[in-house]
Amino acid sequence: MELTVEMAGERGLSVDRAGFDAALQAQRERSRASRAVVGWSPSVSAPGEATGNALAPALTVQTDFLGYETTTALVTLARIGAASEREALAAGEEDVVFLDASPFYAEAGGQVGDTGTLSWEGGRASVLDCLPLVDGPVRGRAHRARVETGTLRRGETVTAQVDPDRRAATARHHSATHLLHRALRETLGETVVQRGSFVGPDHATFDFSFPRGLTPEEIQTVERRVNAAVRDNLVRNVREMPVAEAQASGAMALFGEKYGELVRVVEFGGWSRELCGGTHVGRSGDIGAVIAISETSIGQGTRRIEMVAGGAAVRRWEESEALLKETARTLRARLDEVPDRVARLLDQNRELQRRPREGGGDAVTAALGSVEVVRGGTLALALCDDPAMSGDDAVALVDRIFAERLGGDGIAAVFGEGTVCAKVGGAALAGGVDAGRLVRSAAQASGGRGGGQPGFGRGGLGDPGRRAEAVAAFRSTLEELAR
Ligand SMILES: [Zn+2]
Repeated sequence: MELTVEMAGERGLSVDRAGFDAALQAQRERSRASRAVVGWSPSVSAPGEATGNALAPALTVQTDFLGYETTTALVTLARIGAASEREALAAGEEDVVFLDASPFYAEAGGQVGDTGTLSWEGGRASVLDCLPLVDGPVRGRAHRARVETGTLRRGETVTAQVDPDRRAATARHHSATHLLHRALRETLGETVVQRGSFVGPDHATFDFSFPRGLTPEEIQTVERRVNAAVRDNLVRNVREMPVAEAQASGAMALFGEKYGELVRVVEFGGWSRELCGGTHVGRSGDIGAVIAISETSIGQGTRRIEMVAGGAAVRRWEESEALLKETARTLRARLDEVPDRVARLLDQNRELQRRPREGGGDAVTAALGSVEVVRGGTLALALCDDPAMSGDDAVALVDRIFAERLGGDGIAAVFGEGTVCAKVGGAALAGGVDAGRLVRSAAQASGGRGGGQPGFGRGGLGDPGRRAEAVAAFRSTLEELAR
């Protein structure tokens, strides 16, 4: 009031204080009268619910929903508390409260409940959530409120103010799910049936029946179709009609959902048409933009698309861009070079991992020089006397010999001081040469043990002094197997 008087004064206008006071008084009268509306009524029991137990009568607190038209309203506090009624809530206290009329959307149809504030002369409360109470002794639109300052009393006239930014962000996501639904059916066919959705201010999910995962191209097509509908700036139209008429008009209804006789049909430019009680943007252009973040399976034949719209979509772009730039900076590459660079780094990393660990690198590199390739280029033998050559080094060495000297086709073998290993591939493997048997015969010839698979074998030499015998046994077994 004080602010209004001041602003009016600056413009040479006056305020009708007496009229205001009279209107406020009238509102208080109405609020007192409305408490009479809050009366005990017989509970509406579901079929089969009444099993002889005397059911407690349920109290329904009538709340007119004003939230389709406005996010703020002067209303009356009809009731405090659900299980038991309270007269007042002091600062710091929290409970559910009921209003005679409310701009707060109560969580339904996947859309989250509104948050905001209640303010009155001398006090203020935060509305943390709003849900429909459909079971229990009290039913109605329940606002979970925490008093910040002052005392909130039953019958108080309060200004109910929905957080308008959060409501608008939620509306963008809700409208986006309608456009997505239409785009999915256009792209994948009319067999797509909505199974559910979640709509919040930061993201939305849309669940639908479809027998397989979507290809990246299909997801892109759907996303482009949705964003084209956003740019077309389709007008949102809401009409109430009998359910039969709505279904005859082709409006999408949620499978398994129970609808009243009169339903609310939300349209965007005649392109998308759904039965829906949610809150929406005025024109599709208000959505701004939509990004499909992921497409996953959430059960047999049911897929889920997660998406962000409006400010959340812009934040998503900013984050992705920042991550990409950061990656490019680290790689000292241009943005378009990043995928190539990362692929090359992964290749190099794999190569490095194949090489021996610190300390053995020199032994492997030195041993590569002593490799003898015989048998028409199909057998590469390395006899290593370096005591630094460990069993793992021998494996790394045999891998490198196989790849670099035999081109991945033939028989590579490494005889270290106390170890032996062999790798077989290509034509030799196909021809029946078995690395495990080669290694076993070599190890046994020196009093040791070994074995393995046809493609790879390793073992220990019993007596390093009998390595020549091990090599000879290896060669004769090879001639036997390759015959
Ligand atoms: Zn909807």
